[in-house]
Amino acid sequence: MSGQPVGASTWFPCNDHPSHKSSYRFEVSTDAGYRVVANGELMDHRRSASRNTWVYEAREPMATYLATLQIGRYAEISFDRGGHLLAYSVPGNDLAVRGAFAKQADMAQIFELKFGPYPFEHYKIVVVDDDLEIPLEAQGMSIFGRNHLSLEWEDQRLIAHEFAHQWFGNSLTPERWKDIWLNEGFACFSEWVYSDQAKIMSLEQRARTAWEMLDGLPQDLQVGDPGPEDMFDDRVYKRGALTLYALLTALGDKTFYAMLQDWTSTYQHASVNTEKFAKHVKKHATNVDVEGILTAWLTEQRLPDFPA
Ligand SMILES: [Zn+2]
Repeated sequence: MSGQPVGASTWFPCNDHPSHKSSYRFEVSTDAGYRVVANGELMDHRRSASRNTWVYEAREPMATYLATLQIGRYAEISFDRGGHLLAYSVPGNDLAVRGAFAKQADMAQIFELKFGPYPFEHYKIVVVDDDLEIPLEAQGMSIFGRNHLSLEWEDQRLIAHEFAHQWFGNSLTPERWKDIWLNEGFACFSEWVYSDQAKIMSLEQRARTAWEMLDGLPQDLQVGDPGPEDMFDDRVYKRGALTLYALLTALGDKTFYAMLQDWTSTYQHASVNTEKFAKHVKKHATNVDVEGILTAWLTEQRLPDFPA
């Protein structure tokens, strides 16, 4: 069960609004032979003859849409990082999972350097025994399909993307869905950061490719308020990421990443919106027309020129 954006109320009673964050406790019983993986820390695992009970607690505040429950005949695969990085998949899949996520620890190092400390205790990867159209983030977890296990950029960028949501979306959660670019723009930008730092392709080249793609698409979407039909439109992702690229260009590397780290620490485990972000950037860049940049990229529909 993964609930983004409005699936949570189909499996537990809730006011399914992204601003409603809470701690959680899961207690789930299954037939023997199954493993339950949910958000947070495994507090208890009781076995009886034919039943298994699993108890998880997620202490950090969590939005309803980030609650997840995965049940399968999963084996646990432990990576480095002191047991904080775990993967779950059906037996026999170990090698493929280890291969696909071989760069996960490097990604963690890069993102912590750029965005600040990882905001949760664990990062758990669940690879379900199905093909999925897209992977999906949950708090402290991500869910991938068995079709996402390659070292190709198209899969590696998704691995980076879901991981980046731990900072942007899960720790800092949008107050309203209209601010979805604060999730998807940041996660897409993080793909480019990883690409750049891992020397796959430069951030500028990624940004330019995205800009050229957008230049060929209709410019009839307001990225800062795309509406429910278009909230997961690719233009929200790419132009949201280009908004950050425009700020990076205007602020310079040092100020931009200091601003970003202050953003993730000031609002850790809290709710955010575009107005808070604008105010936050202005605090770090008093000599930059922050309002002008954000209006051009988020409010106006016409695509601004590529940031020089
Ligand atoms: Zn995303």
